[in-house]
Amino acid sequence: MMNSAKLSSLARNSLQYAALRNVMRSNVITQTRNCYVNVSPEDPKMDWESITDRAATHMFFREVARGFAITLAHMFKEPATLNYPFEKGPLSPRFRGEHALRRYPSGEERCIACKLCEAICPAQAITIEAEEREDGARRTTRYDIDMTKCIYCGFCQEACPVDAIVEGPNFEFSTETHEELLYNKEKLLSNGDKWEPEIAVNIQDDYLYR
Ligand code: SF4
Ligand code: SF4
Repeated sequence: MMNSAKLSSLARNSLQYAALRNVMRSNVITQTRNCYVNVSPEDPKMDWESITDRAATHMFFREVARGFAITLAHMFKEPATLNYPFEKGPLSPRFRGEHALRRYPSGEERCIACKLCEAICPAQAITIEAEEREDGARRTTRYDIDMTKCIYCGFCQEACPVDAIVEGPNFEFSTETHEELLYNKEKLLSNGDKWEPEIAVNIQDDYLYR
């Protein structure tokens, strides 16, 4: 057991030690801080005249000159935009646009009512009804596509064994009503008649990959 005199001496010593340590630490910090070099630019003057000067330089001179330079540079570049609908960009032969039912050059419709397109359509957008004609050929009596369901995956044209149903190059077929996008056989055949030259060229261009 320590007596009280010894305890108070110990406490005094530890207080002295702590004070000494604080003095030494502050000396080290001061020395270290004195080694710093200020690399920041001088603080800008904050009187009203200097502020107005700087604002005028930034807002009315440098930025305007830069804007003119950019405008001038763009005058000599090819425009990045097209004057649609008078100008149109190139389309890939694989572009999948509005559907069409094709005919043979004789005028006979190609579709043989095999219903492969109807079966493969993931959106179940195609509805076909078929019956045998008097000459024994099987033909559709109903061929509907709900264009509002179609996701333009192209599976129908991939599945068709006679290239009857195709997705043509037409992408301008927006309508004002839902009903106008419920295509029937007549509409699809008339699309085919209208776009046959382009469709035939696209199929020819893509024949290596089919
Ligand atoms: S493009 Fe796809 S979703 Fe559209 S009708 Fe053909 S198979 Fe169906
Ligand atoms: S469009 Fe082609 S896949 Fe579809 S029913 Fe006619 S022949 Fe068959």
